[in-house]
Amino acid sequence: MRSFHIAALLCALAAVCFADKVDLKDGRSYEGVVLEETDTFVKIKTAKATLTFQKDQVLAVVKVAGGALAERETKLAALDPAKPAGYLELANWITGKGKEAYDLPLLRRLCAAASKLDPKQAYEAQMVLGKKLEEAAIKREAALAYARAQFSKPGDPEARVRLDNLRQGLRDEAKKEMQELAAALDLVIAGEYAAALPKLQKAEGLAMAEEANTQIGMSIELLTKDVARRVQCKPCDGGAEVNCPACAGDGLITCNVCDGGGAKKGFKAGKDETGFADGVCRSCYGVGSILCAKCKAERDITITFYNDPAIMKVVPPITVHAKAQHELDAFRTGVDMVKYQHKIEKRAVISIVGGPATKGGRTPCGTCQGVKYDPPINPPPVDRIRAYLADVNDRANGQKPYEVVPRVTEVFDKSALADDCLRYRNGAWVK
Ligand SMILES: [Zn+2]
Ligand SMILES: [Zn+2]
Ligand SMILES: [Zn+2]
Repeated sequence: MRSFHIAALLCALAAVCFADKVDLKDGRSYEGVVLEETDTFVKIKTAKATLTFQKDQVLAVVKVAGGALAERETKLAALDPAKPAGYLELANWITGKGKEAYDLPLLRRLCAAASKLDPKQAYEAQMVLGKKLEEAAIKREAALAYARAQFSKPGDPEARVRLDNLRQGLRDEAKKEMQELAAALDLVIAGEYAAALPKLQKAEGLAMAEEANTQIGMSIELLTKDVARRVQCKPCDGGAEVNCPACAGDGLITCNVCDGGGAKKGFKAGKDETGFADGVCRSCYGVGSILCAKCKAERDITITFYNDPAIMKVVPPITVHAKAQHELDAFRTGVDMVKYQHKIEKRAVISIVGGPATKGGRTPCGTCQGVKYDPPINPPPVDRIRAYLADVNDRANGQKPYEVVPRVTEVFDKSALADDCLRYRNGAWVK
């Protein structure tokens, strides 16, 4: 029992140690492969995304040689469209031995590329993809992968059995979805827009939703917008905006390192030549608050410099305009932010004072999804919606057929290769 625990612990430690790590000053931490590190920024690729951080946000960069993600980068860089087998091999690797480097969008692309480049591989590639999708309960897409496998190897029993198993579940789901869609449409026809809106907001992507385009002449998304304009939303009073939840509307967030004081913990900023640089809180640059990134706030910040009466030289204060997440860039236009002194006059900073936010503080209302109360003159096209609703109901009741797995005509998923990129260079897919 004990040895099992130790083994499990060692595995966990190994998984942690196999990745590079970037620790940020705000406490966040990212694991992956460090692709590039310069004096000003560091770029890390995690299993899901590539992120770039400015060096002054970064507390530490820990690099570890080897590891599954680093190995994946090497394997990706070696892919060559002239050797289609490499794509299938890598797809198998990230679903097996290299599973720490597994990523679904990557698997989709590899399986599509393997199938496209060499249709003889399509059966195996689509089965690999289908099984992973099924594991993740992404049933409709899994069924499509099996359908493509079947298309490339007609009569294959495994693909057929797996597809049939999924089909029944999908049929039940589709029926439920069509009933939800029908309920939303019923309310639109009845003119009960406020009740229809939340249901319509969820209807996009449901079974039969796509047919709205041809049958009503507008997508469910557009119909939802049309209905939203007819409802005076309560949280925003129809204005489509609310106070930003992150900053409560003033566009500013009190610095949690110095609690708004602007000075380093336990340090009282002196007002002489050296005191400020030593005692300033480096998280908020001594302002005490930072601009809210969620609502993209902006403000003016005034910096005052030490004036030495002995040399009779007066350096006037400067005012910079700062944007959220780019405050440092604004300061740097006039101030050396390492020594905290005037860039040209070399006089020390003695105070940095931020004004109120001139932009920001408001975010789109989540309830109406940012649609203003602005009722269109004409009602929604009720007759066409009624005809469409009848069709949805017929299919939900089984009076008309509904094919839950559309017929496939290709051995790969075109959308996974929409950008046509088959080569991988420096952390990105290229043509
Ligand atoms: Zn905000
Ligand atoms: Zn601070
Ligand atoms: Zn609203």
